[in-house]
Amino acid sequence: MDFDLSEEQQLIYQYGDQLAQRFDRKYWMENAATHRFPTEMFQQIADDGFLGVMVPESYGGAGLGLFEMTLFMEGLANNGIPLLSLVVSSTMSLPLIARYGTEEQKQRYLPDLCAGRTKFCFAITEPGAGSNTPEITTIARKSGAGYLLSGQKTFITDANDADFALVVTRTTPRSEVTRKTDGFTLFLVDLKAPGVDRAEIDIRVPMPESQWQLFFDDVQLTEADALGEFGRGFDILFDTLNPERIVVAAICSGLGRYALGRAVEYACEREVFSGPIGAYQGLQHPLAESKALLEAASLMTLKAAWCFDHNRPTGEAANTAKLTAADAGIKAVDASIQCFGGNGFTGDYGIYEIYPMVRLLKTAPVSREMILNYIGEKVLGLPRSY
Ligand SMILES: Cc1cc2nc3c(=O)[nH]c(=O)nc-3n(C[C@H](O)[C@H](O)[C@H](O)COP(=O)(O)OP(=O)(O)OC[C@H]3O[C@@H](n4cnc5c(N)ncnc54)[C@H](O)[C@@H]3O)c2cc1C
Repeated sequence: MDFDLSEEQQLIYQYGDQLAQRFDRKYWMENAATHRFPTEMFQQIADDGFLGVMVPESYGGAGLGLFEMTLFMEGLANNGIPLLSLVVSSTMSLPLIARYGTEEQKQRYLPDLCAGRTKFCFAITEPGAGSNTPEITTIARKSGAGYLLSGQKTFITDANDADFALVVTRTTPRSEVTRKTDGFTLFLVDLKAPGVDRAEIDIRVPMPESQWQLFFDDVQLTEADALGEFGRGFDILFDTLNPERIVVAAICSGLGRYALGRAVEYACEREVFSGPIGAYQGLQHPLAESKALLEAASLMTLKAAWCFDHNRPTGEAANTAKLTAADAGIKAVDASIQCFGGNGFTGDYGIYEIYPMVRLLKTAPVSREMILNYIGEKVLGLPRSY
């Protein structure tokens, strides 16, 4: 067992420190305040070769794995830069196309995506189905030589800026399949196609990305727009949902670390009564406990990424990483806010604004309860409650 990072992996982990010299937390917050997509930073990330971390070099990527993607995302978040766009594009969409796409699809999409010339969003969630994904009703029905897509998706990150969406659809209605996870197909959908419409959702969490409802009204698709095997879409979904959980865990650990760093600095300088407030154990112990929990979660996150890259069962580690990192991140940010006293709530110090994002990640992309359901049932073997 080797816990050392290679020189290349260390550089990837430190890339966030380098990027933050030009695009720092202040830049991120300025964009986050108005849900403006951080085009300049995104392009810089593309130019530095990081959008396609998990895409083979022959298609414009770096040919690395989820482990490196996780290091990259955690390194950004360590600097207070959590980019959900990189979750839905670089972690979910691009590697799936690289793994399951036809040669024509890979040539068509990947080089442009890696270069930042085009963007993908990922559309699973529906208002009616919620966490119960097998109940989604968006359907692609056979029509002549192609398919007509109809239905509605919700909370789709970047659906306005993205050129394409990876859409999880039914190709056979739920009533006609015996196993509820049968009859799904993933489609690559051009968001400029006739019949696609969107409406913005008013999200109160400061973040550059915006969230959208997507409506499909008989959008014309061809057979060549399907990604992977027809009717087996659910099977390939886990190749993207586990990575999503893993990089989101990395974001939580990084944000927690960023908040802690700020709090430690403040707690060493601020003097009330007889000395620096960081000496008071009422403040010191929550910071120390958070540090320990964050590092444990971060280690579990890397283990999960390693499992994925080595084709090992990944569900247990991915869910454990997401659960522990989200909890540790929230605890760390809360303990950090406490150190700042009243200043914790001011724009000048910018500490309170870290909380909404880390709190969001307890609920999305998969809620704490659904993770505990997974661990209860699939890991411990307890009976299903729903
Ligand atoms: C900012 C943001 C960005 C997002 N981006 C995307 C995206 O890009 N693409 C996409 O497809 N989706 C996206 N989502 C959707 C996200 O994945 C869902 O919001 C999340 O999975 C929860 O589903 P839901 O909102 O329908 O909640 P619901 O399923 O309605 O659940 C509501 C509550 O009930 C609990 N609950 C439900 N069932 C059970 C059960 N069996 N046992 C215990 N508790 C249960 C849940 O844990 C939750 O707390 C995003 C959401 C947000 C807020």
